[in-house]
Amino acid sequence: MKIAIVGYGKMGKMIENLANEKGIKITARVDPNEPSADFKEIDKDSTKDADVCIDFTHPDVLVSNMEKYAELKKNVVVGTTGWYDKMKDVEDIVKKSGIGCIWSGNFSIGVNMYFRIIEAASKLVNNFDEYDIMGVEYHHNQKADSPSGTMKMIGDIILNNVSRKKKAVYDMMERKIDETEVHLASIRGGKILGIHEIVLDSPSDTITLSHSARTREGFGKGALMAAEFVNGKKGFFEINDMMDSVFGGK
Ligand code: NAD
Repeated sequence: MKIAIVGYGKMGKMIENLANEKGIKITARVDPNEPSADFKEIDKDSTKDADVCIDFTHPDVLVSNMEKYAELKKNVVVGTTGWYDKMKDVEDIVKKSGIGCIWSGNFSIGVNMYFRIIEAASKLVNNFDEYDIMGVEYHHNQKADSPSGTMKMIGDIILNNVSRKKKAVYDMMERKIDETEVHLASIRGGKILGIHEIVLDSPSDTITLSHSARTREGFGKGALMAAEFVNGKKGFFEINDMMDSVFGGK
């Protein structure tokens, strides 16, 4: 498998190092703002010879990048976060063009274990009205989106598994919370790579489920695994389509 790296920033460079270690050939590094990249744009030249493009760019450019992958018939791993209000548009672009795409707000194996732990916790909360559920995430001061893609995915897990919760609220709540809402807050500052905390709280006790990313390597390894997964496939895949085989199904 040969890959083109789109977005030669912190994640793009991490993926380059990991691909080199694994002997995966990199055909191009594409970035309009990074002088050391090989190309400035996604086009025929920059994606020539790549089986899969790995996109870790910026939420504002993701849809237009997807249109280019579709036109060039290139399969893609989308690591970029913060574009999820355009999910239907992106799914349509992928399905109409016949390319393969796998997306996730978090490709790390540890976070995907954490997702499954939260799913199990949510099912327990669903059976005990005494326990409420809430969360908070912390990220570095350069992060473009808020809430994190990971927290949005956690919000969906909670809403899908706790039937009395109908809505996730990510903004500041300048009022009393409704019992049908789950509050998931975001804090930005410093160099924090990503901390997510989900709290289960009852009148008697508190349970805290916490995940802290130590390096970007975990995201990069998962993204390369996802590139292997989507190589040669058609369709719009989410992370569980791949993780079911990693963890042996649910
Ligand atoms: P970064 O700012 O270090 O790098 C992003 C790079 O993309 C920049 O160099 C920028 O110039 C470039 N870029 C912008 N528009 C482009 C375009 N149209 N074509 C090519 N390159 C373009 O950011 P980062 O830390 O590498 O993160 C990138 C994205 O990945 C963010 O959305 C972040 O939230 C997300 N992320 C996802 C995961 C995951 O596992 N899914 C993990 C970490 C980060």
